[in-house]
Amino acid sequence: MTSITLVQGDITLQSVDAIVNAANSTLLGGGGVDGAIHRRGGPAILAECKELRAGQYRRGLPVGEAVATTAGDLDARWVIHTVGPVHSYDEDRSEFLVSCYRESLRVADDLGATTIAFPAISTGVYGWPMDDGARRAVDTVRSADTALTEIRFVLFDPRAYRAFDKALNG
Ligand code: ADP
Repeated sequence: MTSITLVQGDITLQSVDAIVNAANSTLLGGGGVDGAIHRRGGPAILAECKELRAGQYRRGLPVGEAVATTAGDLDARWVIHTVGPVHSYDEDRSEFLVSCYRESLRVADDLGATTIAFPAISTGVYGWPMDDGARRAVDTVRSADTALTEIRFVLFDPRAYRAFDKALNG
């Protein structure tokens, strides 16, 4: 049985097995939640990201895919980096957003994680409308086939929390 929970707060302060990072393709850090994770997690995360860039992900992590590193100083075992799509009104990129949640859960299951925390992927700098992002996030994790016991959404501000609450609880 998987419970889906909502918390308003900072994802870098969560105690879970896996913290999901809304990264960018370079895997070398950025602003928003990405910057916060690297700041609080310390240099070990970036060092492993650089190794990934030198190896399997020479051309960067593709949009919609997910990969794990150590969680450094965070109270977690892993950070799962995933690259959300930039929102566009000209093109439907929602399958990539759905893929971020699905692939992150798959990586977490492969690692043997039981608890995971997600931010609201793509809803910051990447411009995804919050209500739509929340609905797709909740629908995707709800229908996922996973052994995780808790899937926690960590929403930074009240507006994001309200959108996820509406998507989850109607
Ligand atoms: P993206 O580039 O995928 O849009 P952002 O980091 O810009 O990623 O924003 C994604 C979401 O994460 C936004 O809703 C933003 O408010 C939120 N966010 C930013 N910092 C944190 C944090 N420390 N914990 C949880 N959520 C955060």
